[in-house]
Amino acid sequence: MDELTAEVVVAGAGPSGLMLANELALAGVDVVVLERLAARTGLSKALNLQPRTAEVLDLRGLLGRAEQRSFTTVPEGHFAMIPVSYAGWDTRHPYQVGIPQAQVEAALEERLAEQGVKVLRGHELTGFAQDAGGVTVTAGDVRVRAAYLVGCDGGRSAVRKALDLPFEGFEGRGHGVSADVLFASTPPGAPTEWRSMRNLVRSAASPGSFVGLIPLAEPNLYRLSYGDRLNRPADLRAKVTDDEVRAKVRESFGDAVEISEIRWASRFSDDSRLAGKYRVDRVFLAGDAAHTHFPAGGQGLNLGVQDAMNLGWKLAAELNGRAPAGLLDTYEAERRPVAEAVLQNVAAQTALIPATPEQRAMRLLFQDLTAIPEVQHRLSGMVSGLNIRYASEEPDPVGTRLPDFPVGDGYVSDLFHKGKFVLLTTAPAGPPHPDVVVARVPALPWPNLTKVLVRPDGYVATATDSTAGWLA
Ligand SMILES: Cc1cc2nc3c(=O)[nH]c(=O)nc-3n(C[C@H](O)[C@H](O)[C@H](O)COP(=O)(O)OP(=O)(O)OC[C@H]3O[C@@H](n4cnc5c(N)ncnc54)[C@H](O)[C@@H]3O)c2cc1C
Repeated sequence: MDELTAEVVVAGAGPSGLMLANELALAGVDVVVLERLAARTGLSKALNLQPRTAEVLDLRGLLGRAEQRSFTTVPEGHFAMIPVSYAGWDTRHPYQVGIPQAQVEAALEERLAEQGVKVLRGHELTGFAQDAGGVTVTAGDVRVRAAYLVGCDGGRSAVRKALDLPFEGFEGRGHGVSADVLFASTPPGAPTEWRSMRNLVRSAASPGSFVGLIPLAEPNLYRLSYGDRLNRPADLRAKVTDDEVRAKVRESFGDAVEISEIRWASRFSDDSRLAGKYRVDRVFLAGDAAHTHFPAGGQGLNLGVQDAMNLGWKLAAELNGRAPAGLLDTYEAERRPVAEAVLQNVAAQTALIPATPEQRAMRLLFQDLTAIPEVQHRLSGMVSGLNIRYASEEPDPVGTRLPDFPVGDGYVSDLFHKGKFVLLTTAPAGPPHPDVVVARVPALPWPNLTKVLVRPDGYVATATDSTAGWLA
């Protein structure tokens, strides 16, 4: 048995685990990442970064790296496949970055390696025990003693199960299938580039079902998605056969559409689940380990990356002896309501897949209402993550995201690359501070304020209209 020590063990090298490990490494925390699989599969469930995730990656100088690996940008999101524009938001990234999940993971793992952290692949967490001083984690022939363990090990999380936490929610009645399919030629009516959320879905044969095609990076390569919210197979884990995919393509797009290759296919459920707690003493959950839902709106990966961004700096502050009492508990207090809201909007989106004439009428009415700019803005705020405001007893803008703006030759987001707090002040800046990047700016997004202290994850921690006081 190999014995290792670390400050934090991250179980799972999906997007959530890799983002978290990057955040910890950036803060100088000694982190070990355990991954069950011997090699990355290269398969991608998710296909997008939402605007808030783009902003979050930009705060760490990671967005460019992701965009290099992307194949498109889409200037809108969708709610139940009804397009919702991101144009009304004060963001430099009012679009979805079209990027396969495997490429997000590759970009994050590349940065992690540059920070000197290697993922221990082929190391499945099989158990752990915690005591007052730390956690001992077992993964095959390795045992790691650490101060904290974070389960980023996906929807079937071994960490969550070992903690015996309730995974609350509801069991859906349906299922969906995703498959990457190469066609011999462009299916009739299918877009050749993914630039909009329009015309991606067509009515399916039976009530409550859907089928759609999203064009991917190669000519005639599409993400085929189909499903039925009223019916599910007896075994949701049963392999999706090529025959099933071919039959669905024939039924939906006609006999003439020829498939050259089915690269992969997998089935997913429309269950909706949220962990009862995100923390038990020294063990935390993040990403799909804490919440799973039907992939409507393209939100799951984005939620997990932002969980990681929220937890990373807090764990680092605790380990570096700079955290105020209770900081670690704010992770659950802030992130669980965000996941709860996503689960709600996903359930609403699922209900908008019509199964009856009445539901069809409701969908048409809903679609009509989305023409109202305020409605569109509310919906796009939900799916983009741009509407997140962490609860605070202090008035606005405390708890809201700092919109990016130009400063000097660059942008204010550049000041966050080291993962520190950032103090923006329109008054004289005062002396440098070891834990805070201090910058004088000509103006703030809130003209009545003179100083805002912004957390490493880009949310306002505190604000004042005084020219004296902290860090003056
Ligand atoms: C069909 C489909 C389409 C989707 N499309 C989108 C989309 O467009 N946009 C979006 O935002 N989201 C989408 N999602 C959701 C998204 O894929 C997930 O939310 C995302 O993968 C969650 O990342 P994660 O890192 O939390 O978990 P995972 O990606 O599941 O990663 C968990 C990692 O932990 C490893 N692991 C598991 N158990 C152990 C263990 N015991 N020890 C060590 N390692 C372990 C796994 O091998 C894996 O590498 C989609 C999901 C599906 C099913």
